[in-house]
Amino acid sequence: MVVERSRRCCLLCGAAFVGRAFLCRGCAARYRRELPSPAVRRQFYEAVDRTYPGWANTYGDHNLPRGLLRVLESLPRHLSILELGAGGGFLLQALQRLGFHTLIGLDLARTALEPLRQRVRGALAVCGDAERLPFADESLDIVISSDLVEHLPDPDRHFQEVARVLQPGGLYLFKTPNRLLAVPYYRLAGLYDYHFWHPSMFSPGDLRARLSASGFACRFVAQPGLTPAQLRKVPIRALRPLAGRLPIGRLPPWLRPHLEVVARRC
Ligand SMILES: [Zn+2]
Repeated sequence: MVVERSRRCCLLCGAAFVGRAFLCRGCAARYRRELPSPAVRRQFYEAVDRTYPGWANTYGDHNLPRGLLRVLESLPRHLSILELGAGGGFLLQALQRLGFHTLIGLDLARTALEPLRQRVRGALAVCGDAERLPFADESLDIVISSDLVEHLPDPDRHFQEVARVLQPGGLYLFKTPNRLLAVPYYRLAGLYDYHFWHPSMFSPGDLRARLSASGFACRFVAQPGLTPAQLRKVPIRALRPLAGRLPIGRLPPWLRPHLEVVARRC
């Protein structure tokens, strides 16, 4: 969620400013003091889709969870999968290509639902909040999310909701930025509004403790290499091809830019 420095309008109030952030300084300060409502969060993500379509996961396949896809390749194809924050359905499309056929995509942004339906024929597209899931207890085999958890104001409630809808032994597979690397990067990049769009980031140790409190046992899986979205954040363009060949999966989890997590509901 980073764009090049430019003159742009605040995605909430429309005020013009120059920078790399999504919000003006005034809106960033306001939402440092108060929690945004679900309606304000929806307004923001729908504005991202409209204003920065080249960066929105409604329209592009920038950041697939490559370690998690390897895990899914080894699982039986009859299992049901719910993706939270499904955007335009690129990950669900990858799952459909792997042979999974009971697929549901949920997204808060109404702008995502039609692209999702068009891209993944046969999948159910649901508008909803990942902290209040509209599904019955123990009704799903697998829940997956990619770059969702960090956007949620109440991640503990989210983990409890995922535990509720999963069958015992079911899996929650997710990818999220590693706070230990992301926060210094956002500060250096001048993204003074990151608390609005990434309010919930974790280190590997935090994540293990939070998941355990919600009834999950977890392990971290390695991504084989940097994704296109991660490579776009390498500031020197000429270094990007080299960065793309880095064996990032050999690093310990606390040094990886993103954490890919397999959490099993106990
Ligand atoms: Zn503003």
